[in-house]
Amino acid sequence: MSAHFHQLADAVLAGTPATPEDALAVLRADDAELMSVVAAAARLRRAHFGNAVKVNYLVNLKSGLCQENCNYCSQALGSSAPILKYSWLSEAEALAQAGAGLGGGASRVCLVASGRGPSTRDIDKVVDVVGALKREHPGVEVCACLGLLKEGQAERLKDAGVDAYNHNINTAESHHDAIVQTHTYADRVDTVEKAKGAGISPCSGLIAGLGETDEQLVEALFALRELDSDSIPVNFLMPFDGTPFENTWELSPTRCVKILAMARFVCPDREIRIAGGREMHLRSLQSVALHVANSIFLGDYLTSEGQAAEADLEMIRDSGFVVQGSAEDLAQRAADPVIRRRGAGTDLLPNA
Ligand code: SF4
Repeated sequence: MSAHFHQLADAVLAGTPATPEDALAVLRADDAELMSVVAAAARLRRAHFGNAVKVNYLVNLKSGLCQENCNYCSQALGSSAPILKYSWLSEAEALAQAGAGLGGGASRVCLVASGRGPSTRDIDKVVDVVGALKREHPGVEVCACLGLLKEGQAERLKDAGVDAYNHNINTAESHHDAIVQTHTYADRVDTVEKAKGAGISPCSGLIAGLGETDEQLVEALFALRELDSDSIPVNFLMPFDGTPFENTWELSPTRCVKILAMARFVCPDREIRIAGGREMHLRSLQSVALHVANSIFLGDYLTSEGQAAEADLEMIRDSGFVVQGSAEDLAQRAADPVIRRRGAGTDLLPNA
């Protein structure tokens, strides 16, 4: 059976997409086969991303106080989880928070606000923060995550310099209505399409451990492939007390690694990010998962604490990876091709 996963990697590397049956076989691999699954998926990871780990940093611009009822969310209507609740951070606070993440090695800042979707004034605020962030940190990638978008809002974010927009489909269409009733799966897809339509890189992913079946996890991943999501955050449910999912523990570290490996086989050249629940669910297999996924969040999540940023960076180094964009990463890349501006077709002498 071990050979099967390498044959699958061979086929995917040769351009044959993984099928739902392939994905299920990865998800249902026996734990005794785990390292074979990882080794095969790691070939795809290294083919597309080498040994770099993209580091992202979350800034929660507005926390809690949401009117939507996403059952998994500590910020939802009806949640009594004792989280921090605040309305919009000032621009100075947002910049200070983002600066800390960038100083820690992050290359992308994810600006997040709770709520169904932004008002025009909310977009104004985000536009100002993005402008200031880009002036202070030229080269930073900015992702916005503000909920459902209305007509014209994606274009305003694009004009402000937003590089990516995150809106997770979260789960399979066939399971969506069991976990949220205040908006539809189609609403979510519509926002991802609006971001794409405005020329913003789509970031959309899922949450595992919501009572979905194996087939529904596969369904969600193939929907993300169909949506052409550039980056795919894979969250593992953190069952906050005070939410409908409190005390829901469906995941094991080995299952989480297999879910990430399945994502890699289905979407081999996409950024697969180990997102919320990394420490809680992967536990001592976090560094193994880096051989499959190529992206993490540094430090804390939106409403819960992650391990210290220094521990994240140490794990990356200890596992033989480098932070994307770091001096180590840049040093190991070959120089970019230099376009010829001399010799034939120019007034300048050739270099012979
Ligand atoms: S996921 Fe977003 S929309 Fe849903 S309850 Fe949480 S903050 Fe609100």
